[in-house]
Amino acid sequence: MPTLKDTYPLYLNNKAAQPNTDLAVTDKFTGEVAFRTALASPEIIDEAIAGAVRAAEPMARLASYERQAVLQHCVGRFTERFDELAYALCVEAGKPIKDSEGEVTRLIDTFRIAAEESVRMVGEVMPLDISARARGYQSIWKRYPIGPCSFISPFNFPLNLAAHKVAPAIAVGCPFVMKPASKTPLGAIIMGEVLAETDLPEGAFSILPASRDGADLFTVDERLKLLSFTGSPAVGWDLKARCGKKKVVLELGGNAAVVVDHDADLDDALERIIFGAFYQSGQSCIGVQRIIVHEDVYDRFRDMLVAKTKTLVAGDPKDRDTFIGPMISEGEASRLKGWIDEAVAGGATLLTGGGCKGNMLEATLLEDVHKDAKALNEEAFGPLAILQKFSSFDEALAEVNRSTFGLQAGIFTRDLFKMFDAWDRLEVGGVVINDVPSYRVDNMPYGGVKDSGLGREGIKFAMEDMTEIRNLVIRRG
Ligand code: NAD
Repeated sequence: MPTLKDTYPLYLNNKAAQPNTDLAVTDKFTGEVAFRTALASPEIIDEAIAGAVRAAEPMARLASYERQAVLQHCVGRFTERFDELAYALCVEAGKPIKDSEGEVTRLIDTFRIAAEESVRMVGEVMPLDISARARGYQSIWKRYPIGPCSFISPFNFPLNLAAHKVAPAIAVGCPFVMKPASKTPLGAIIMGEVLAETDLPEGAFSILPASRDGADLFTVDERLKLLSFTGSPAVGWDLKARCGKKKVVLELGGNAAVVVDHDADLDDALERIIFGAFYQSGQSCIGVQRIIVHEDVYDRFRDMLVAKTKTLVAGDPKDRDTFIGPMISEGEASRLKGWIDEAVAGGATLLTGGGCKGNMLEATLLEDVHKDAKALNEEAFGPLAILQKFSSFDEALAEVNRSTFGLQAGIFTRDLFKMFDAWDRLEVGGVVINDVPSYRVDNMPYGGVKDSGLGREGIKFAMEDMTEIRNLVIRRG
Protein backbone atom coordinates (compact mmCIF):
# COMPACT_ATOMS: atom_id res chain seq x y z
CA MET A 1 0.00 0.00 0.00
CA PRO A 2 1.41 3.44 -0.88
CA THR A 3 2.25 5.78 1.97
CA LEU A 4 1.63 9.49 2.38
CA LYS A 5 4.16 12.04 3.62
CA ASP A 6 3.61 13.84 6.93
CA THR A 7 3.65 17.28 5.33
CA TYR A 8 3.02 18.74 1.89
CA PRO A 9 3.89 22.17 0.45
CA LEU A 10 1.79 24.60 -1.51
CA TYR A 11 2.87 25.64 -5.01
CA LEU A 12 3.59 29.32 -5.48
CA ASN A 13 4.58 30.54 -8.94
CA ASN A 14 5.51 26.99 -10.06
CA LYS A 15 7.63 26.20 -6.99
CA ALA A 16 7.02 24.23 -3.81
CA ALA A 17 6.94 26.42 -0.68
CA GLN A 18 6.39 25.49 2.93
CA PRO A 19 5.60 28.70 4.82
CA ASN A 20 3.79 26.69 7.52
CA THR A 21 2.01 23.40 8.15
CA ASP A 22 -1.23 24.98 9.30
CA LEU A 23 -3.76 22.79 7.52
CA ALA A 24 -4.35 19.42 9.18
CA VAL A 25 -6.14 16.97 6.86
CA THR A 26 -7.84 13.95 8.38
CA ASP A 27 -8.32 10.42 7.14
CA LYS A 28 -12.09 10.60 6.71
CA PHE A 29 -12.63 7.05 7.90
CA THR A 30 -10.43 6.97 11.01
CA GLY A 31 -10.81 10.67 11.84
CA GLU A 32 -7.06 10.89 12.57
CA VAL A 33 -4.78 13.56 11.07
CA ALA A 34 -3.31 11.92 7.96
CA PHE A 35 -0.96 14.75 6.88
CA ARG A 36 -0.52 18.51 7.08
CA THR A 37 -0.18 21.06 4.29
CA ALA A 38 0.77 24.68 4.07
CA LEU A 39 -2.04 27.20 4.13
CA ALA A 40 -1.68 30.28 1.92
CA SER A 41 -2.07 33.72 3.50
CA PRO A 42 -3.68 36.58 1.54
CA GLU A 43 -0.10 37.91 0.94
CA ILE A 44 0.89 34.62 -0.70
CA ILE A 45 -2.28 34.63 -2.82
CA ASP A 46 -1.47 38.19 -3.87
CA GLU A 47 2.06 37.13 -4.87
CA ALA A 48 0.63 34.24 -6.89
CA ILE A 49 -1.78 36.53 -8.75
CA ALA A 50 1.09 38.93 -9.53
CA GLY A 51 3.06 35.93 -10.88
CA ALA A 52 0.10 34.86 -13.01
CA VAL A 53 -0.16 38.37 -14.46
CA ARG A 54 3.55 38.26 -15.41
CA ALA A 55 3.09 34.80 -16.92
CA ALA A 56 0.09 35.75 -19.08
CA GLU A 57 2.15 36.87 -22.07
CA PRO A 58 4.73 34.06 -22.07
CA MET A 59 1.91 31.54 -21.61
CA ALA A 60 -0.02 33.01 -24.55
CA ARG A 61 3.14 32.78 -26.67
CA LEU A 62 3.70 29.06 -26.04
CA ALA A 63 3.37 27.04 -29.21
CA SER A 64 0.67 24.36 -29.37
CA TYR A 65 3.25 21.59 -29.27
CA GLU A 66 4.78 23.07 -26.10
CA ARG A 67 1.42 23.19 -24.32
CA GLN A 68 0.70 19.69 -25.54
CA ALA A 69 4.05 18.42 -24.21
CA VAL A 70 3.23 19.71 -20.71
CA LEU A 71 -0.13 17.91 -20.76
CA GLN A 72 1.46 14.73 -22.08
CA HIS A 73 4.02 14.88 -19.29
CA CYS A 74 1.12 14.99 -16.80
CA VAL A 75 -0.57 11.99 -18.45
CA GLY A 76 2.66 10.00 -18.13
CA ARG A 77 3.38 10.97 -14.54
CA PHE A 78 -0.19 10.45 -13.33
CA THR A 79 -0.10 7.01 -14.90
CA GLU A 80 3.17 6.21 -13.08
CA ARG A 81 1.76 7.55 -9.80
CA PHE A 82 -1.68 5.94 -10.21
CA ASP A 83 -1.69 3.93 -6.96
CA GLU A 84 -0.40 6.81 -4.88
CA LEU A 85 -3.02 9.20 -6.27
CA ALA A 86 -5.85 6.70 -5.66
CA TYR A 87 -4.66 6.06 -2.13
CA ALA A 88 -4.43 9.80 -1.40
CA LEU A 89 -8.04 10.23 -2.52
CA CYS A 90 -9.18 7.26 -0.51
CA VAL A 91 -7.63 8.72 2.64
CA GLU A 92 -8.43 12.41 2.29
CA ALA A 93 -11.95 12.06 0.82
CA GLY A 94 -12.94 8.70 2.36
CA LYS A 95 -13.70 7.62 -1.19
CA PRO A 96 -13.87 3.81 -1.61
CA ILE A 97 -10.68 2.62 -3.24
CA LYS A 98 -12.37 1.37 -6.41
CA ASP A 99 -14.08 4.75 -6.91
CA SER A 100 -10.75 6.45 -6.15
CA GLU A 101 -9.07 4.40 -8.87
CA GLY A 102 -11.94 5.32 -11.20
CA GLU A 103 -11.28 8.99 -10.52
CA VAL A 104 -7.55 8.67 -11.26
CA THR A 105 -8.45 6.99 -14.56
CA ARG A 106 -10.67 9.97 -15.33
CA LEU A 107 -7.91 12.39 -14.32
CA ILE A 108 -5.65 10.76 -16.90
CA ASP A 109 -8.45 10.87 -19.51
CA THR A 110 -9.03 14.56 -18.80
CA PHE A 111 -5.37 15.47 -19.34
CA ARG A 112 -5.18 13.24 -22.41
CA ILE A 113 -8.22 14.95 -23.96
CA ALA A 114 -6.67 18.35 -23.18
CA ALA A 115 -3.39 17.27 -24.81
CA GLU A 116 -5.35 16.39 -27.96
CA GLU A 117 -7.44 19.58 -27.93
CA SER A 118 -4.43 21.82 -27.29
CA VAL A 119 -3.35 21.50 -30.93
CA ARG A 120 -6.87 22.05 -32.28
CA MET A 121 -7.62 25.62 -31.29
CA VAL A 122 -8.99 26.60 -34.65
CA GLY A 123 -10.84 29.71 -35.81
CA GLU A 124 -12.89 30.52 -38.88
CA VAL A 125 -12.77 32.52 -42.07
CA MET A 126 -16.00 34.49 -42.63
CA PRO A 127 -17.15 36.40 -45.67
CA LEU A 128 -18.40 39.82 -44.51
CA ASP A 129 -19.78 40.92 -47.87
CA ILE A 130 -23.34 40.32 -46.81
CA SER A 131 -24.51 43.61 -48.30
CA ALA A 132 -23.21 46.25 -50.67
CA ARG A 133 -21.64 48.33 -47.87
CA ALA A 134 -19.35 45.41 -46.93
CA ARG A 135 -18.27 44.48 -50.42
CA GLY A 136 -14.63 43.37 -50.43
CA TYR A 137 -14.43 42.66 -46.67
CA GLN A 138 -13.80 39.39 -44.91
CA SER A 139 -12.84 38.37 -41.40
CA ILE A 140 -10.75 35.73 -39.74
CA TRP A 141 -11.26 35.03 -36.04
CA LYS A 142 -9.16 33.06 -33.65
CA ARG A 143 -9.22 32.29 -29.94
CA TYR A 144 -6.87 34.18 -27.64
CA PRO A 145 -6.26 33.16 -23.98
CA ILE A 146 -8.31 35.25 -21.57
CA GLY A 147 -5.41 35.75 -19.11
CA PRO A 148 -4.96 34.88 -15.43
CA CYS A 149 -7.70 32.57 -14.15
CA SER A 150 -9.02 31.84 -10.67
CA PHE A 151 -10.05 28.27 -9.93
CA ILE A 152 -11.89 26.98 -6.86
CA SER A 153 -12.67 23.27 -6.55
CA PRO A 154 -14.79 21.09 -4.19
CA PHE A 155 -14.04 18.11 -1.96
CA ASN A 156 -15.95 15.37 -3.74
CA PHE A 157 -13.77 14.90 -6.85
CA PRO A 158 -10.55 16.49 -5.60
CA LEU A 159 -8.53 15.36 -8.61
CA ASN A 160 -10.76 15.29 -11.62
CA LEU A 161 -12.65 18.50 -10.97
CA ALA A 162 -9.39 20.34 -10.38
CA ALA A 163 -8.20 18.74 -13.63
CA HIS A 164 -11.25 20.09 -15.50
CA LYS A 165 -9.91 23.59 -14.83
CA VAL A 166 -6.13 23.05 -14.86
CA ALA A 167 -5.88 20.96 -18.05
CA PRO A 168 -7.88 23.31 -20.34
CA ALA A 169 -6.01 26.32 -18.92
CA ILE A 170 -2.72 24.76 -19.99
CA ALA A 171 -4.25 23.70 -23.31
CA VAL A 172 -5.12 27.33 -24.18
CA GLY A 173 -2.18 29.04 -22.44
CA CYS A 174 -3.79 30.71 -19.41
CA PRO A 175 -1.88 31.05 -16.12
CA PHE A 176 -3.95 30.26 -13.05
CA VAL A 177 -4.22 30.32 -9.28
CA MET A 178 -6.15 27.43 -7.77
CA LYS A 179 -7.72 26.90 -4.37
CA PRO A 180 -8.50 23.24 -3.69
CA ALA A 181 -11.03 22.29 -0.99
CA SER A 182 -9.44 22.40 2.46
CA LYS A 183 -10.82 18.97 3.37
CA THR A 184 -9.15 17.38 0.34
CA PRO A 185 -6.19 19.44 -0.91
CA LEU A 186 -3.75 16.63 -1.70
CA GLY A 187 -4.94 15.68 -5.19
CA ALA A 188 -4.33 19.22 -6.45
CA ILE A 189 -1.00 19.46 -4.57
CA ILE A 190 0.30 16.33 -6.30
CA MET A 191 -0.86 17.86 -9.58
CA GLY A 192 1.29 20.88 -8.64
CA GLU A 193 4.24 18.59 -7.94
CA VAL A 194 3.93 17.10 -11.44
CA LEU A 195 3.47 20.50 -13.13
CA ALA A 196 6.57 21.75 -11.32
CA GLU A 197 8.56 19.16 -13.28
CA THR A 198 7.72 20.97 -16.53
CA ASP A 199 9.18 24.17 -17.93
CA LEU A 200 5.99 26.22 -17.90
CA PRO A 201 6.82 29.95 -17.63
CA GLU A 202 7.30 31.13 -14.05
CA GLY A 203 3.96 32.17 -12.53
CA ALA A 204 1.98 29.87 -14.84
CA PHE A 205 0.43 28.08 -11.88
CA SER A 206 -0.03 28.37 -8.15
CA ILE A 207 -1.89 25.78 -6.09
CA LEU A 208 -2.83 27.28 -2.77
CA PRO A 209 -4.83 25.61 -0.02
CA ALA A 210 -6.38 28.54 1.84
CA SER A 211 -8.98 29.13 4.50
CA ARG A 212 -12.33 30.42 3.26
CA ASP A 213 -11.95 33.63 5.24
CA GLY A 214 -8.54 34.34 3.72
CA ALA A 215 -9.47 33.43 0.15
CA ASP A 216 -11.34 36.53 -0.99
CA LEU A 217 -8.71 37.51 -3.56
CA PHE A 218 -9.65 34.47 -5.65
CA THR A 219 -13.04 36.17 -6.11
CA VAL A 220 -12.54 39.91 -5.94
CA ASP A 221 -9.10 40.57 -7.46
CA GLU A 222 -9.56 42.42 -10.75
CA ARG A 223 -6.29 41.10 -12.19
CA LEU A 224 -8.03 37.73 -12.57
CA LYS A 225 -10.08 37.54 -15.75
CA LEU A 226 -12.14 34.41 -15.15
CA LEU A 227 -13.53 32.68 -12.05
CA SER A 228 -14.27 29.02 -12.55
CA PHE A 229 -15.93 27.63 -9.43
CA THR A 230 -17.17 24.13 -8.69
CA GLY A 231 -19.00 23.72 -5.41
CA SER A 232 -22.23 24.39 -3.62
CA PRO A 233 -24.92 26.69 -5.04
CA ALA A 234 -24.98 29.02 -2.02
CA VAL A 235 -21.25 29.71 -2.21
CA GLY A 236 -21.12 29.84 -6.01
CA TRP A 237 -23.87 32.42 -6.51
CA ASP A 238 -22.46 34.54 -3.69
CA LEU A 239 -19.00 34.56 -5.30
CA LYS A 240 -20.54 35.52 -8.65
CA ALA A 241 -22.22 38.51 -7.03
CA ARG A 242 -18.85 39.68 -5.69
CA CYS A 243 -16.49 38.97 -8.56
CA GLY A 244 -16.71 42.23 -10.50
CA LYS A 245 -15.94 42.21 -14.22
CA LYS A 246 -14.69 38.63 -14.46
CA LYS A 247 -16.22 36.02 -16.67
CA VAL A 248 -17.77 33.36 -14.44
CA VAL A 249 -18.31 29.62 -14.78
CA LEU A 250 -20.31 27.96 -12.01
CA GLU A 251 -20.58 24.18 -11.70
CA LEU A 252 -22.97 23.77 -8.78
CA GLY A 253 -25.22 21.19 -7.20
CA GLY A 254 -28.48 19.48 -7.95
CA ASN A 255 -31.09 16.91 -6.90
CA ALA A 256 -30.89 14.82 -10.04
CA ALA A 257 -33.81 12.68 -11.19
CA VAL A 258 -34.05 9.46 -13.15
CA VAL A 259 -37.25 8.31 -14.85
CA VAL A 260 -37.96 4.58 -15.25
CA ASP A 261 -40.70 4.08 -17.84
CA HIS A 262 -42.85 0.95 -18.09
CA ASP A 263 -40.84 -0.45 -21.02
CA ALA A 264 -37.44 -0.14 -19.30
CA ASP A 265 -35.15 -3.13 -18.79
CA LEU A 266 -35.61 -3.21 -15.01
CA ASP A 267 -32.60 -5.39 -14.22
CA ASP A 268 -30.34 -3.05 -16.12
CA ALA A 269 -31.99 0.06 -14.62
CA LEU A 270 -31.56 -1.41 -11.15
CA GLU A 271 -27.78 -1.88 -11.51
CA ARG A 272 -27.29 1.62 -12.87
CA ILE A 273 -29.58 3.36 -10.36
CA ILE A 274 -27.99 1.66 -7.37
CA PHE A 275 -24.66 2.93 -8.66
CA GLY A 276 -25.99 6.41 -9.46
CA ALA A 277 -27.65 6.85 -6.08
CA PHE A 278 -25.03 5.43 -3.78
CA TYR A 279 -21.54 5.57 -5.33
CA GLN A 280 -19.15 7.55 -3.14
CA SER A 281 -21.99 7.72 -0.62
CA GLY A 282 -24.11 9.88 -2.91
CA GLN A 283 -21.63 12.74 -2.71
CA SER A 284 -21.85 13.60 -6.37
CA CYS A 285 -23.51 16.65 -7.88
CA ILE A 286 -25.26 14.31 -10.34
CA GLY A 287 -25.99 11.51 -7.87
CA VAL A 288 -29.50 10.07 -8.27
CA GLN A 289 -31.75 11.63 -5.64
CA ARG A 290 -35.19 11.19 -7.20
CA ILE A 291 -36.27 7.90 -8.81
CA ILE A 292 -39.50 8.47 -10.76
CA VAL A 293 -41.05 5.14 -11.74
CA HIS A 294 -44.06 4.26 -13.93
CA GLU A 295 -47.00 2.94 -11.89
CA ASP A 296 -47.15 -0.35 -13.84
CA VAL A 297 -43.67 -1.36 -12.68
CA TYR A 298 -43.42 0.68 -9.49
CA ASP A 299 -44.03 -2.03 -6.85
CA ARG A 300 -41.77 -4.53 -8.54
CA PHE A 301 -38.96 -2.05 -9.08
CA ARG A 302 -39.23 -0.70 -5.52
CA ASP A 303 -38.82 -4.23 -4.13
CA MET A 304 -35.81 -4.85 -6.38
CA LEU A 305 -34.21 -1.56 -5.28
CA VAL A 306 -34.77 -2.22 -1.58
CA ALA A 307 -33.36 -5.74 -1.80
CA LYS A 308 -30.27 -4.61 -3.69
CA THR A 309 -29.65 -1.59 -1.44
CA LYS A 310 -29.61 -3.87 1.60
CA THR A 311 -26.71 -5.84 0.09
CA LEU A 312 -24.37 -2.84 -0.28
CA VAL A 313 -21.27 -3.28 1.85
CA ALA A 314 -20.47 -0.30 4.06
CA GLY A 315 -17.17 0.21 5.86
CA ASP A 316 -13.52 1.11 5.46
CA PRO A 317 -12.97 2.76 2.06
CA LYS A 318 -9.52 1.15 1.84
CA ASP A 319 -11.20 -2.27 1.74
CA ARG A 320 -11.84 -3.33 -1.87
CA ASP A 321 -15.26 -4.80 -0.96
CA THR A 322 -16.56 -1.50 0.39
CA PHE A 323 -19.21 0.25 -1.65
CA ILE A 324 -20.48 2.77 0.93
CA GLY A 325 -17.74 4.70 2.71
CA PRO A 326 -17.98 7.62 5.11
CA MET A 327 -19.49 10.97 4.27
CA ILE A 328 -17.03 13.85 4.28
CA SER A 329 -17.85 14.85 7.88
CA GLU A 330 -20.04 13.99 10.83
CA GLY A 331 -21.79 17.35 10.42
CA GLU A 332 -22.82 16.51 6.84
CA ALA A 333 -24.04 13.04 7.85
CA SER A 334 -26.15 14.39 10.70
CA ARG A 335 -27.52 17.16 8.46
CA LEU A 336 -28.85 14.56 6.02
CA LYS A 337 -29.98 12.21 8.78
CA GLY A 338 -32.04 15.17 10.08
CA TRP A 339 -33.68 15.61 6.66
CA ILE A 340 -34.52 11.88 6.53
CA ASP A 341 -36.08 11.98 10.01
CA GLU A 342 -38.00 15.12 9.10
CA ALA A 343 -39.37 13.49 5.93
CA VAL A 344 -40.47 10.42 7.91
CA ALA A 345 -42.10 12.63 10.54
CA GLY A 346 -43.94 14.32 7.64
CA GLY A 347 -45.43 11.02 6.44
CA ALA A 348 -42.68 9.40 4.33
CA THR A 349 -42.04 5.66 4.48
CA LEU A 350 -38.49 4.55 5.27
CA LEU A 351 -37.92 1.58 2.95
CA THR A 352 -34.39 0.81 4.12
CA GLY A 353 -31.44 2.53 5.82
CA GLY A 354 -31.77 5.69 7.87
CA GLY A 355 -29.19 4.69 10.50
CA CYS A 356 -26.22 6.95 11.16
CA LYS A 357 -23.08 6.50 13.24
CA GLY A 358 -20.50 9.29 13.14
CA ASN A 359 -20.02 10.11 9.47
CA MET A 360 -21.30 6.69 8.27
CA LEU A 361 -24.86 7.11 7.03
CA GLU A 362 -26.65 4.01 5.72
CA ALA A 363 -27.80 3.82 2.12
CA THR A 364 -31.37 5.03 2.49
CA LEU A 365 -34.52 4.77 0.38
CA LEU A 366 -37.73 6.68 1.06
CA GLU A 367 -41.14 6.79 -0.61
CA ASP A 368 -44.30 8.87 -0.16
CA VAL A 369 -42.19 11.90 0.71
CA HIS A 370 -44.18 15.12 1.10
CA LYS A 371 -43.61 17.35 -1.91
CA ASP A 372 -42.28 20.19 0.23
CA ALA A 373 -39.79 18.08 2.19
CA LYS A 374 -36.14 19.23 2.20
CA ALA A 375 -35.05 15.65 1.41
CA LEU A 376 -36.82 15.91 -1.95
CA ASN A 377 -36.21 19.53 -2.90
CA GLU A 378 -32.79 20.46 -1.60
CA GLU A 379 -29.54 18.82 -2.62
CA ALA A 380 -29.14 15.69 -0.43
CA PHE A 381 -25.46 15.14 -1.34
CA GLY A 382 -25.40 11.84 0.54
CA PRO A 383 -26.65 8.24 0.32
CA LEU A 384 -30.36 9.01 0.01
CA ALA A 385 -32.77 8.33 -2.85
CA ILE A 386 -36.50 8.90 -2.99
CA LEU A 387 -39.01 6.89 -5.02
CA GLN A 388 -41.93 8.59 -6.75
CA LYS A 389 -44.68 7.15 -8.97
CA PHE A 390 -46.00 8.51 -12.28
CA SER A 391 -48.75 7.49 -14.67
CA SER A 392 -48.08 9.57 -17.82
CA PHE A 393 -44.73 10.50 -19.36
CA ASP A 394 -45.75 14.18 -19.33
CA GLU A 395 -46.25 13.94 -15.61
CA ALA A 396 -42.79 12.39 -15.21
CA LEU A 397 -41.12 15.19 -17.17
CA ALA A 398 -43.00 17.82 -15.15
CA GLU A 399 -41.81 16.17 -11.95
CA VAL A 400 -38.18 16.22 -13.13
CA ASN A 401 -38.60 19.93 -13.89
CA ARG A 402 -40.21 20.61 -10.52
CA SER A 403 -36.82 21.51 -9.11
CA THR A 404 -34.85 24.68 -8.69
CA PHE A 405 -31.87 22.73 -10.08
CA GLY A 406 -31.06 21.45 -13.56
CA LEU A 407 -27.79 19.59 -14.02
CA GLN A 408 -28.54 16.27 -15.73
CA ALA A 409 -31.50 13.87 -15.91
CA GLY A 410 -31.66 10.17 -16.79
CA ILE A 411 -34.50 8.44 -18.68
CA PHE A 412 -34.88 4.69 -19.03
CA THR A 413 -37.08 4.22 -22.10
CA ARG A 414 -36.96 2.38 -25.41
CA ASP A 415 -39.27 4.87 -27.09
CA LEU A 416 -37.48 7.16 -29.54
CA PHE A 417 -40.24 9.77 -29.43
CA LYS A 418 -40.13 9.99 -25.66
CA MET A 419 -36.37 10.35 -25.85
CA PHE A 420 -36.64 13.41 -28.10
CA ASP A 421 -39.47 14.78 -26.00
CA ALA A 422 -37.33 14.53 -22.87
CA TRP A 423 -34.36 16.14 -24.62
CA ASP A 424 -36.56 19.06 -25.73
CA ARG A 425 -38.50 19.62 -22.55
CA LEU A 426 -36.24 18.87 -19.60
CA GLU A 427 -34.67 21.96 -18.06
CA VAL A 428 -31.19 20.52 -17.57
CA GLY A 429 -27.69 20.77 -19.02
CA GLY A 430 -27.79 17.15 -20.21
CA VAL A 431 -30.23 14.28 -20.73
CA VAL A 432 -28.92 10.71 -20.46
CA ILE A 433 -30.99 8.00 -22.13
CA ASN A 434 -30.95 4.49 -20.67
CA ASP A 435 -28.58 5.48 -17.93
CA VAL A 436 -28.45 7.54 -14.78
CA PRO A 437 -27.97 11.34 -14.64
CA SER A 438 -24.73 10.51 -12.85
CA TYR A 439 -23.13 9.46 -16.13
CA ARG A 440 -20.27 11.60 -17.35
CA VAL A 441 -17.41 11.15 -19.77
CA ASP A 442 -14.79 13.86 -19.55
CA ASN A 443 -14.96 15.17 -23.12
CA MET A 444 -18.71 15.78 -23.18
CA PRO A 445 -20.28 19.20 -22.52
CA TYR A 446 -21.18 19.19 -18.86
CA GLY A 447 -22.87 21.77 -16.65
CA GLY A 448 -26.20 23.03 -15.45
CA VAL A 449 -29.04 25.50 -15.80
CA LYS A 450 -31.26 27.13 -13.16
CA ASP A 451 -29.61 27.05 -9.70
CA SER A 452 -27.12 24.40 -10.92
CA GLY A 453 -24.86 26.91 -12.60
CA LEU A 454 -23.58 28.66 -15.68
CA GLY A 455 -21.31 27.54 -18.50
CA ARG A 456 -20.00 24.13 -19.49
CA GLU A 457 -16.91 22.10 -18.72
CA GLY A 458 -15.59 19.17 -20.76
CA ILE A 459 -12.19 20.44 -22.02
CA LYS A 460 -13.22 21.86 -25.39
CA PHE A 461 -16.06 23.80 -23.77
CA ALA A 462 -13.92 25.02 -20.87
CA MET A 463 -11.28 26.08 -23.42
CA GLU A 464 -13.91 28.28 -25.06
CA ASP A 465 -14.57 30.00 -21.72
CA MET A 466 -10.84 30.48 -21.14
CA THR A 467 -10.40 32.31 -24.42
CA GLU A 468 -11.81 35.39 -26.09
CA ILE A 469 -12.49 35.57 -29.79
CA ARG A 470 -10.12 37.99 -31.46
CA ASN A 471 -11.28 39.07 -34.88
CA LEU A 472 -9.30 40.31 -37.88
CA VAL A 473 -11.15 42.28 -40.55
CA ILE A 474 -9.53 42.49 -43.98
CA ARG A 475 -10.51 44.94 -46.70
CA ARG A 476 -9.55 43.93 -50.15
CA GLY A 477 -8.39 46.90 -52.15
P1 NAD B 1 -18.37 24.29 -1.10
O1 NAD B 1 -19.18 25.28 -1.86
O2 NAD B 1 -18.53 24.23 0.36
O3 NAD B 1 -16.82 24.54 -1.38
C1 NAD B 1 -16.30 24.52 -2.69
C2 NAD B 1 -14.99 25.26 -2.71
O4 NAD B 1 -15.24 26.64 -2.46
C3 NAD B 1 -14.00 24.82 -1.63
O5 NAD B 1 -12.70 24.87 -2.14
C4 NAD B 1 -14.20 25.85 -0.57
O6 NAD B 1 -13.11 25.97 0.30
C5 NAD B 1 -14.38 27.09 -1.43
N1 NAD B 1 -15.01 28.23 -0.79
C6 NAD B 1 -16.07 28.25 0.02
N2 NAD B 1 -16.36 29.52 0.40
C7 NAD B 1 -15.45 30.32 -0.22
C8 NAD B 1 -15.23 31.72 -0.25
N3 NAD B 1 -15.99 32.55 0.42
N4 NAD B 1 -14.21 32.19 -1.01
C9 NAD B 1 -13.43 31.35 -1.73
N5 NAD B 1 -13.60 30.01 -1.73
C10 NAD B 1 -14.60 29.50 -0.99
O7 NAD B 1 -18.65 22.87 -1.78
P2 NAD B 1 -18.10 21.44 -1.31
O8 NAD B 1 -18.81 21.06 -0.07
O9 NAD B 1 -16.62 21.39 -1.35
O10 NAD B 1 -18.61 20.55 -2.54
C11 NAD B 1 -19.88 20.06 -2.63
C12 NAD B 1 -20.73 20.88 -3.58
O11 NAD B 1 -20.12 20.96 -4.85
C13 NAD B 1 -22.09 20.26 -3.83
O12 NAD B 1 -23.07 21.26 -3.82
C14 NAD B 1 -21.94 19.66 -5.21
O13 NAD B 1 -23.14 19.46 -5.89
C15 NAD B 1 -21.08 20.64 -5.88
N6 NAD B 1 -20.41 20.04 -7.03
C16 NAD B 1 -20.76 20.43 -8.30
C17 NAD B 1 -20.17 19.82 -9.40
C18 NAD B 1 -20.48 20.21 -10.81
O14 NAD B 1 -19.65 19.93 -11.68
N7 NAD B 1 -21.62 20.81 -11.10
C19 NAD B 1 -19.24 18.81 -9.20
C20 NAD B 1 -18.93 18.44 -7.90
C21 NAD B 1 -19.50 19.07 -6.82
